[in-house]
Amino acid sequence: MAVRLVMLGAPGAGKGTQADRYARARGVPKISTGDILREAVQAGTELGRASKAVMDAGQLVGDDIMIGIVRERLSRPDAAGGFVLDGFPRTVAQAQVLDELLDDGVPIVVVNVEVPEETLVERLTTRRICGSCGWNAVPGVRVCAKCGGELIQRRDDSADVVRERLRVYARDTQPLVDYFRERSTFRIVDGDQTPDAVAADLAAAVASVVGERM
Ligand code: AMP
Repeated sequence: MAVRLVMLGAPGAGKGTQADRYARARGVPKISTGDILREAVQAGTELGRASKAVMDAGQLVGDDIMIGIVRERLSRPDAAGGFVLDGFPRTVAQAQVLDELLDDGVPIVVVNVEVPEETLVERLTTRRICGSCGWNAVPGVRVCAKCGGELIQRRDDSADVVRERLRVYARDTQPLVDYFRERSTFRIVDGDQTPDAVAADLAAAVASVVGERM
């Protein structure tokens, strides 16, 4: 059965890494709006130019732009058999549009990855990504395991921007948890565990919604 998974969680909760793993395991695309925007910035497109300052300040790109991006991406053939959304929706307005777009009876599984705030700050300010391909480095490695590129800090992972992103999360994105909480397709996963344990809990959570055997 097609799985439509929406990953919620604060910056640093590990939702990108987990979304990636789960999407690979299921053979569906991972759609990360943060990745789409970072690629646009790197490519110097109009979208990238319009978004860069907003992202560097830890603020959210406008709903209309984001909704346009996701609407187009979900309409591509590879998303017809399911997908994992990472970083979208981020506001209640985005969630409402997503519900309208996907109003065909296939359930949207929503998983909130929960991690205590001290852990989020520690993870974000120490994480490194590949400057060439965007790979999320695991602790201890010195070069990108995918392409050998140099590891760098994301511009928005500096301590002051991290604090702002967490404020924006609490203000704009936390209300999404309330938007989805009452649904029978909503699950919480403890993100303060090893990546393997989180992955196992995530797979079990999705399976408990779509009724699959593990
Ligand atoms: P992420 O990689 O998900 O942490 O996203 C990085 C940055 O991209 C965010 O801090 C926002 O500036 C922007 N962004 C990503 N997804 C969205 C979204 N759904 N709505 C608004 N801004 C977004």
